[in-house]
Amino acid sequence: MSNPERKYSEPGDENNRRNMGWIDLNVGHPTENYKQHGCPLGCIYCNQQSLDRDPYGEKEAGYLFQGVDSAISLNTRLMSGPKVIKEIKVDDVIKEMKSYPHYNPDSPVLIENFNDPGLDWSGAIDIAERLRREVGHDGPSIFITKMPISDRNTERMRNFKDQGGKPIVVVTYSGLPTNVEPASGKKRIDTLRKLSCQNIPTILSIRPLIEGVNLTDENLRTVAKEAGVYADKITVGGLFVYQPETINNFREAGYELGERYSKHTYFPAKVLPPGIKIRVREIMREEGVPANVHDHTSCAVAEICTTIYDDPTTDRLAHWAGGVESDFEYCATKCGANQVEVCCAASKLDQSIVIEKAEKVLRKLGYDKQVVTSATQVGLLLVKDGSLTIGELFTLAEQTGWQANNWPDKETLMYRTEQAITKDLGLPKEVVLGAVPVGQEWYIVMDGDVDGSNNELVVKWIRSRNRARIKVLNIKDLNGEDFDKCVEELTSASLNMQSREEIEFSLKEIVSKNKCDE
Ligand code: SF4
Repeated sequence: MSNPERKYSEPGDENNRRNMGWIDLNVGHPTENYKQHGCPLGCIYCNQQSLDRDPYGEKEAGYLFQGVDSAISLNTRLMSGPKVIKEIKVDDVIKEMKSYPHYNPDSPVLIENFNDPGLDWSGAIDIAERLRREVGHDGPSIFITKMPISDRNTERMRNFKDQGGKPIVVVTYSGLPTNVEPASGKKRIDTLRKLSCQNIPTILSIRPLIEGVNLTDENLRTVAKEAGVYADKITVGGLFVYQPETINNFREAGYELGERYSKHTYFPAKVLPPGIKIRVREIMREEGVPANVHDHTSCAVAEICTTIYDDPTTDRLAHWAGGVESDFEYCATKCGANQVEVCCAASKLDQSIVIEKAEKVLRKLGYDKQVVTSATQVGLLLVKDGSLTIGELFTLAEQTGWQANNWPDKETLMYRTEQAITKDLGLPKEVVLGAVPVGQEWYIVMDGDVDGSNNELVVKWIRSRNRARIKVLNIKDLNGEDFDKCVEELTSASLNMQSREEIEFSLKEIVSKNKCDE
């Protein structure tokens, strides 16, 4: 139901992340579990050692969560090492899926995403089957694993597929040493082999690739020969760096991560050296591996649905969109002609139809907001006066086939910006001096170089919180001639939506207020 008053939601709100129904098994104080991994496999880079915790170390992850790139995340347990610390009955999670506003019958669903579905293959396949039968789930059921699978469960997976389910199994294997990733690589390759023999679509996920550990041509060639040959699709990924945990864990294992990783203080992004995806594509070709190597799991999933399940499906996050023009030539280096055609058809949809669909999705999420198309980027929708979370924007993209960003009003812009400055960067909110609308973007004026890196970090965090087109100006660059130059530049970027006088007035107001405050 839409609510005209609804302005903001947070990633942790029940609408986005369901976690009220967890049964806490009270297996120890959360701080005792704080350092533990998210499952018994014990990978030293496990992101659940540091992700999604409250200040007391309590895990906050949801049993339903929209905020993962490739699908809605569905979980029936949270673990600390070998111990289950929270659980929910399958009956209850299925019941909640029925009312989860992000769910659509064709949404991809990631089963047991916060630990490994292979800890209980039979239970994980049961969930997928029940979703199909009881909630009409018709989209892909994705299982991401580093575990072996028995012949019996491989057969069950095939039965699920034969009855109309769309399983896709993602096997993570990148040739890491056992002191980084103790789970047997040989058994994982066997999982890929067994599933591919039963015609279950598989993705080999070569991640994390880490400089100084497994990122060498030699290792990639071995991975290609050992595992690539069994996969339908391949994806490549970098390392999530959480400071200081990730750096310390690798140091303890005998690996000193280079500056690329240790300098990292913006944690939502994975670190992968440039050019690696292209290099992996070359190596797979040279080694005779036929599987397409994708930049994104959502693209690999879309291509499996289109070509193997014969269900034309666009990339859930519309990676073709968001540029000055769509780049289907680059898409064709990763996807076959059929898939490119499907995404290309989405790019040509009538704007008014896409907008109507988007506004309907927004009403389901509880927002009564208007949607417009970007004047500068293809396939990009802008939620007028919106401040949607990344999960909500994923839902808009999944259900319309186009990308979506916010176009916040000043109040919502400042609300999110204050979150970025104070919570993410630990700076006083006063370092933000004001904001000027320019075209469909905002320019935020900062009180100098406030992060010591030319405000590069500031830009990342502000954009991350706002999920909007935002640029940052330094007040020190708004003196004398520089001021006039800036007004000129902003006026030409304004798409005639603001006049030169309006831009000059807004900027002058910020500069003179700052002078008075000094
Ligand atoms: S055509 Fe492009 S956007 Fe679509 S799935 Fe392939 S790579 Fe992704």
